[in-house]
Formats: sequence, structure tokens, C-alpha cells
Amino acid sequence: MEHKLQNGKLLRMLVGDITKVPTDGIVNAANSALAGGGGVDGAIHRAGGPSIMQELDQIRANAGGCPTGSAVVTGAGHLPAQLVFHAVGPVYRDGKHQEHELLALCYRKCLELAEQHAVKTISFPSISTGAYRYPIRDAAQIAVCEALRHLEQPDAKVQEVVFVLFSESDYEVYSKVV
Ligand code: ADP
Repeated sequence: MEHKLQNGKLLRMLVGDITKVPTDGIVNAANSALAGGGGVDGAIHRAGGPSIMQELDQIRANAGGCPTGSAVVTGAGHLPAQLVFHAVGPVYRDGKHQEHELLALCYRKCLELAEQHAVKTISFPSISTGAYRYPIRDAAQIAVCEALRHLEQPDAKVQEVVFVLFSESDYEVYSKVV
């Protein structure tokens, strides 16, 4: 689905593999050790090749990792993008450990980095709703709200946000929020 805002900017949603969707920036659902893993993280490193992990090794050596609610940038290797934003979403416990704020911060940080790097189109997976068990309805609400809030800003250079959902049922949940 495609939702065009009054200012002409676009929010898109589709079912697919994020490593196959061309955008300027691709967001990875990473972990704070930036160590790679399963899910979308594994898919991004497999498709992007070793240069992404080499850059993360450098970041890890300098900064030790990335705190929850933040993100770091690398090149995109063989992916159909220029940059990857490795965002660290919260592990969902009971909703009383700042999960909501931390997930919103993740999206905000990626969009802020996108602005700094003149990224016009950016694709997101459903951060935290896989291994990190964030309830999908709440996570979708946060994700879509942050994307729309950013796209509505008149001075934002990002023109298009794409949510790439990995299943039809995730897609249904996300598309109902708009
Ligand atoms: P987290 O640890 O943040 O929960 P996961 O990678 O376990 O991250 O899951 C996040 C979401 O990404 C889940 O909905 C999962 O189904 C989805 N996912 C897994 N592989 C891909 C992929 N190749 N493209 C898009 N989404 C994916």
C-alpha cells in the first residue's frame, strides 16, 4: 500500500525481503553488541557481504557497541542501497521498562541519521517484533507514528519511508495503523 501525504511525501508498505528492496538507506534490526545474529540481521549480512561486519568491527573497537534505542551507520556492501542503519531495538519484557520510548527512539535516530546522510528513501523492517518479542500491534503503532511525524516535517529531506514486512499478517497489522 501507498499513503501519500499532503506534502507529496510517501509512506509505503509491502511484504518482502528487505535485502531485495532498493532504497538509499536500509535499516537493520541489530543487537547492542553489533555482532550479527539471526532474523533480518543475518539476512542483511549474508546479502551485503563481509564489508558491513568489517565496518561494524571498527565501530565496536572505537565505541564498544551501540546502546538500545540508538543506531550506527555503515556502507551497504552488495545490498541495493548506499547505507545501512543498524538500529538496536528494545527486548520486550512487560512494557514497563521503557520499551515504548526506546523503540520510538530507534526510529527517530534512524530518520535523523538519514537526514544527516542526505538519504531520500529509507526502508525499515519491523524492529523488535521478532526475537525481541515486542507485541506487533503496539510496535506497528510506534513505527508508523514516528515515520509519519518525520515525513510531515516541511524541512525533512527524506521523501519516502518503506516498511518491508516479512509476512502477510505483519503487513495487515501495519497497514491498519495508517
Ligand atoms: P528483533 O531482534 O529486533 O526482534 P528480528 O530480526 O528477530 O529482530 O525480527 C524483526 C522482524 O524482521 C520480524 O518481523 C522478522 O520476521 C523480520 N524479518 C526477518 N528477516 C527479514 C527480511 N529478510 N526482510 C524483512 N524482514 C525480515
